[in-house]
Amino acid sequence: MCDQTTPRPPVDELPDAAPITKSLLAWYAHARRDLPWRRTRDPYRVWVSEVMLQQTQVPTVVGYYERFLVAFPTVEDLAQASLDTVLALWQGLGYYARARNLHAAARIVVREHGGRLPRYKEALLALPGVGPYIAGALLSIAFGLDEVAIDSNIARVLTRLHDYAEDPTSTAGKRALHAFAERLLPPGRAGEFNVAIMELGATVCVARRPRCGSCPVEPHCLARRRGTETQRPLRRPRRDVPTREMAAALCVRRDAVGRRRTLIVRRRPEGLLGGMWELPSAEVPPGTAPEDALRLALASDLGVRARVGGLLTVVEHGYSHFRVRVGCYGCELDGAVNPGGPWDTSHWLAPEEEAAYGLTRVTTRILEAIAS
Ligand code: SF4
Repeated sequence: MCDQTTPRPPVDELPDAAPITKSLLAWYAHARRDLPWRRTRDPYRVWVSEVMLQQTQVPTVVGYYERFLVAFPTVEDLAQASLDTVLALWQGLGYYARARNLHAAARIVVREHGGRLPRYKEALLALPGVGPYIAGALLSIAFGLDEVAIDSNIARVLTRLHDYAEDPTSTAGKRALHAFAERLLPPGRAGEFNVAIMELGATVCVARRPRCGSCPVEPHCLARRRGTETQRPLRRPRRDVPTREMAAALCVRRDAVGRRRTLIVRRRPEGLLGGMWELPSAEVPPGTAPEDALRLALASDLGVRARVGGLLTVVEHGYSHFRVRVGCYGCELDGAVNPGGPWDTSHWLAPEEEAAYGLTRVTTRILEAIAS
């Protein structure tokens, strides 16, 4: 889609690269936040930070990053850990495919690259979860190579500097931003430049109300000059997000010493929330009673008959492409469970064990709601 009011500038109207780069690096030298991953160029640590920072804000990542590196100080430590341990440390950070990919990639790095992250783009891109952005960030920040890296913060700044009036997420848009970023990249200082422009996007050229008055590159910004900064990047219309109805089972028993234990099941490794632990649950098709859907799922996927009792709580949660509304029901089981279908194993969870299991956010919220 093209914005008719402000046509895209021809290439010779693009802002000059040298003053932008100079102003940006000078600003970054005094405005940079002191973040733990900026005190290192260790490729493994840079990698962990970049994976965590995808989809998650800096203040949330800091604690997770530090705990993760205490648990897994080297790529070998991560490769040797079980996926359960990794997911338990990732619990609450969301987008769990990142953790599964990081873990799988660490094993490849140890097995195929002698425990050292490769310095070549093709080899990095072959690792699970490593796309052009993470490869570019690693090559420029950790290895000091002249590589472009464009994440959503950087894309926003480039789009505004360039006053790019088309969809920057389209193939043509990505190409245009990449070419523009290449023009800006100062040879020998690409890592510093990439981090500086990322920082500008995170703290000054923010999504809703860019603080142009405090911006070091304002004199060179085409969108600012044309008054289009809040219209860039061009936003795609929001799609309606469907809501799925779900029913979850709270099955409780007492162990030999009288501790209350709750049945949880682990999702198979592949797919959404793979490897995470959750309460047994079922999607409720339209026109079906939640109790019936739950009874059926427990019989077919856990091999156990269940008496489904009353509704205990309802929790709603949003994923990237849909929402779920989960009604949780007290259930009594008639026999032992035998996981199958979407689950590969089960466990009777004691309250003090919760931190050691990577529970889905929905499960955590249900357990909190019932305990309160
Ligand atoms: Fe962003 Fe405004 Fe700076 Fe342009 S002048 S880069 S729109 S903060």
